[in-house]
Amino acid sequence: MTEKREVPIKIALDEFRVVGYKLIDAIADFYDTIHERPVTTGETPTQIQAVLGTASLPEQGRPASELISTATDLLFNHSLLNGHPKFFGYITSSPAPIGALADLLAAAVNPNVGANILSPMATAIEKQTVKWLAELIGVSSSYGGILVSGGNMANLTAFLTARTAKASSDIKVGGLVNMPGEMVFYCSKATHTWIDKAAVLFGHGSNAVRWIPTDATNRMDTAILARTIEEDSKKGKIPFLVIGNAGDVSTGVVDNLNEIAAVCKAHNLWFHIDGAYGAPAAVIPEYKNLFDGMQEADSIALDPHKWLYAPLEAGCTLVKNPQYSIDTYSAHPVYYNFEASTDEPTLNYYEYGFQNSRGFRALKVWLALQQVGRSGYIRMITEDIKLSQFLFSEAQRHPELEAVTQNLSVTTFRYVPAEYAQAEKRNDTYLNALNEKLLNELQRGGKVFLSNAIIANKYCLRACIVNFRTSKQDILEAIDVIIAEGARIHKLIQEAVIVI
Ligand SMILES: *Cc1c(COP(=O)(O)O)cnc(C)c1O
Repeated sequence: MTEKREVPIKIALDEFRVVGYKLIDAIADFYDTIHERPVTTGETPTQIQAVLGTASLPEQGRPASELISTATDLLFNHSLLNGHPKFFGYITSSPAPIGALADLLAAAVNPNVGANILSPMATAIEKQTVKWLAELIGVSSSYGGILVSGGNMANLTAFLTARTAKASSDIKVGGLVNMPGEMVFYCSKATHTWIDKAAVLFGHGSNAVRWIPTDATNRMDTAILARTIEEDSKKGKIPFLVIGNAGDVSTGVVDNLNEIAAVCKAHNLWFHIDGAYGAPAAVIPEYKNLFDGMQEADSIALDPHKWLYAPLEAGCTLVKNPQYSIDTYSAHPVYYNFEASTDEPTLNYYEYGFQNSRGFRALKVWLALQQVGRSGYIRMITEDIKLSQFLFSEAQRHPELEAVTQNLSVTTFRYVPAEYAQAEKRNDTYLNALNEKLLNELQRGGKVFLSNAIIANKYCLRACIVNFRTSKQDILEAIDVIIAEGARIHKLIQEAVIVI
């Protein structure tokens, strides 16, 4: 019989079962009552700190059961609940319950998905997940790729791959300073701020970003794109990458991907698509045309933790020719012994991205894809879009709302008090201040959670529905809350109780 070490981190098996079952019961009750809870308690950091306390690092341990029960209470009662049916902020989805179970299981086995030898089944599952994601959005399943922490990382991972592919071959040795000219890249003004990070992190500087204007529909102006590339080339710059948006973060607009693909082909540039939010909508047959050109992309970023409802964190980089990923990220230090002992080629995920040790984030995505299936995602994503359109049409109908934009599942609108109802009477300076104040109050109030967008100098309220719990009734109730709160704040401003 092997001798067993008595260690403080051990939980006796009986206790583990009791604590575990209790936790699952508590989570089930949490799901069951989530719609009755406030979206957020609106507590300030000081109030939260007071709840948590300021104890120093404990010297002695405490029983797991007590700790899990305390943590459960802290989190259920003092969190912002993005699983709440009236959470429409930013782009964070209601998390799939199967994802919660998946993360528990993944943590229990704890495969290190950096190398195949350390994670034989998990590596195979991640590979299948990546293939299924490509199939879901309708691009060739020969795309390779990797799961990462989210959209920022998915885009950054692709950016560096694009640069390795398009720079002269010694960039890995000589670096940017030895390039024959400045490397520049192109994206629309609506592109997410990850591009600023990429410019700084990878040594290009923000001057290397070419912000291409958008047309009246907020899509990248591809004529200006082509012209700018030509001008840059004449000046001795080295254009290497164009980024198209498949659902921009603010308003959900999908660029004309076919046109961008054609420009990239004509100038031999890498075509990357940021589909962090929107790409999964390509699964809907009626929306497929909107994403035409996606199959031309050299790389695509998409976020299962957005419209596939995976719990945080799960992003994905897809690369049409995965050899470029390996060229970018592979290294062979002496302390790696990851080559196969068989004749088969080995898939080692450390060669596809920034991470070395890697968690098993694929499991929650893989399980949800199977629990729901393609048809289930078509249904849920379609319903989210329909709810967003319903919100837009209700805003159009309502005398005190102005509907501004509607794309995919993002609607922007603003509160307009009755006396400003006629367009010529609208005072944007006042309405901007009023709506900003309104948004801040709503975000603290706990009844509905929205974010904001600035559109043509209008400060708008913005609802993005990536939420399988939301119903029409929630939309109607949310509108009631917005109108009541808007009227209340407008009155307080008029009476000079609130100064703006
Ligand atoms: C959300 C989003 C990102 C950033 O993704 P994270 O997962 O928050 O890092 C990038 N691009 C677009 C279009 C997005 O919607």
